[in-house]
Amino acid sequence: MRCGLCHQVVDKLLKSHIVPEAMMLHGRPNDCDKAMLILPSDDGKHAKRSPTGIYSPIVCAQCEASFQRGDDELLRLLRTLAEGAPVASENGRALAKEYPHIDSSVLHRGILTTLFRAHLSPHEAFNRVDLGPYAEAIRQLVSGQGPTIGAGFDVVLRVIEGQVGAITHSPFRERWNSVNAYRLYFPNITAYVKVDRRQFGELFDSVRLRPNVAPLAIIKETLSPSELRLLGTLVAKHEQALERVAK
Ligand SMILES: [Zn+2]
Repeated sequence: MRCGLCHQVVDKLLKSHIVPEAMMLHGRPNDCDKAMLILPSDDGKHAKRSPTGIYSPIVCAQCEASFQRGDDELLRLLRTLAEGAPVASENGRALAKEYPHIDSSVLHRGILTTLFRAHLSPHEAFNRVDLGPYAEAIRQLVSGQGPTIGAGFDVVLRVIEGQVGAITHSPFRERWNSVNAYRLYFPNITAYVKVDRRQFGELFDSVRLRPNVAPLAIIKETLSPSELRLLGTLVAKHEQALERVAK
């Protein structure tokens, strides 16, 4: 079989977590003994509880090991979300937080590899991720040793602390002023990844991850009404019919 990242033919593919396992465990509320809820992108599908996230056999052992550094930085951000320094706007209200202890370039790699893993995964939870003509460019970036940041696949972060932000949803593609982006949900962190040759608009451009600059994340106290509708309807509809994710 062939590794989805380096394309070498190997005897065995490892089961890779699409969203890092430690993040899924961390995102679980302390008083909750149920596994994380993962909502599907397709309204017709059942929501699932997964103790450790979803994994799929997609890459070789060496490529799997290469995911570690980016995954660790993502987890470090999640564990230290509360330590972000508020960045005030003109009217004094904090709209974003800055995380000086997080390396934007390593974090970008973790997010782009998550998107690429979702692209490779045949699991239905990731069936809305198809990088199409961008898949090869992203594969080369992710498999190389060089920085993934600055190659056009810009990332904007949003954080929602507390339990409302801990629910994750399957990733999906959306448009921001006609620019294509994938929305990736991690517990309490949402990443918008531009997969398009065009630039993000001004607002997004000002908060995207930049090399050698501390990452900024837009703060939200709650999910947007449309997002709550999306999540709420699915939870109400499928709470009775939760399935365990088949491993
Ligand atoms: Zn490989």
